[in-house]
Amino acid sequence: MDNDLFHKLPVPKLEDYERFVGAETIDRIFKKIQLMQGMHITNISSTYYGGGVAELLSSLTLLMDSAGVNTGWRIIQGSPDFFTITKKMHNALQGDDINLTARKEELYEHIIYQNVLRNHIHHDLVIVHDPQPLPMVRHYKKKGPWIWRCHIDLSAPNQKMWNYLVPFIEMYDGVVMSIPEYKKDLNTPQFFVMPAIDPFSIKNKEFTEEEVMQRLKHYNIPTDLPLVVQVSRFDASKDPEGVIKAFQIARKKVDATLVLLGAPATDDPEGERIYESILHHRDERIIILSHEDTSLVNALQQKAAVVLQKSLKEGFGLTVTEAMWKGTPVIGGNVGGIKYQIQDGVNGFLVSSIEETADKIVQVLGNPDMAHRMGKLAKQSVRNNFLLTRLLEQEIDIYNSYETIYRVRT
Ligand code: UDP
Repeated sequence: MDNDLFHKLPVPKLEDYERFVGAETIDRIFKKIQLMQGMHITNISSTYYGGGVAELLSSLTLLMDSAGVNTGWRIIQGSPDFFTITKKMHNALQGDDINLTARKEELYEHIIYQNVLRNHIHHDLVIVHDPQPLPMVRHYKKKGPWIWRCHIDLSAPNQKMWNYLVPFIEMYDGVVMSIPEYKKDLNTPQFFVMPAIDPFSIKNKEFTEEEVMQRLKHYNIPTDLPLVVQVSRFDASKDPEGVIKAFQIARKKVDATLVLLGAPATDDPEGERIYESILHHRDERIIILSHEDTSLVNALQQKAAVVLQKSLKEGFGLTVTEAMWKGTPVIGGNVGGIKYQIQDGVNGFLVSSIEETADKIVQVLGNPDMAHRMGKLAKQSVRNNFLLTRLLEQEIDIYNSYETIYRVRT
């Protein structure tokens, strides 16, 4: 590969983060990355777009490649049946009931086997994301460590679901989860790393007011009243119905426009049904959109008077951090990773009910000074804790410890 291309094309590089995290941090990461030179790494997940895993991998793989570590990303293929089953598994890992029949297990394992046949994996390190590709591990002769990276809210999984997956999980050399409270009784070492965002991506870079307005105008989103925004896949755990109800209560006291934006994801076949189930709430001030448009996400998060992420379950909400990075106050569900992202009453609000969400919407819209203060602190907390460099360094530390073990063994 022509390494000069990295200097000509606009791929963010580690050194670009210096202005956010300082030269010392960048030097330290470069030193640690030296130990990984020559390694060939691959990630395996189930979709290139839609959802947090794709968002994360798009940026992280490029950052690692530009820093000199050969890092790839593969996607498994599956029929709609397969993704219907894996979405049910996803929901069950977040606590829903599941009717896990032998037929479903067989289809799941069979499609995975087909993917194994198509994917020739001889990498020094393999990182498998979420339950969809999980069983792949059992079919390969490992050359180096295999890590299962689970992004889901594992605080209270359905036990039957969990028990079925454990034998696959324990074939891995390590499990990475987002927060310590997801820790499980496993024979595999567990690590905890919170996701992070790329400040240089189209989704997160600063737009001019003109760019913002142009994007919103394109979708006929009015800006005469403050915007209350939730950007999320249409998924029951993101509680879009609850968001609308909270807005309907709040609008009795404040004038605003609600925008719900959710792009489809190929590994989430439920999205369309949930989107259609809330469409009847649409009115002049309740806008519900299903579009894949990264610039629109950015414009909405930047322009919003308040962003909601009223999740009932959330491994870690990238949308929360994205909005906070734009200095926008966020009202988030008091669950999963969001509890670690928002400091309640300081740089946002944590809520546990529709009524509380409505109250906080009224409070934020009625107090622009407080909202401005919270937004500033929100941005600062992302700069300190939730930029990709922090995630990269934690992951390198984990991978390097394995590299040593495997080097000693071989
Ligand atoms: N997203 C998007 N367009 C949408 C809805 C979501 O680009 O219409 C992105 C969002 O900006 C974020 C990711 O999808 O980067 C969602 O990640 P999060 O961790 O919030 O939730 P997940 O979908 O992984 O459960």
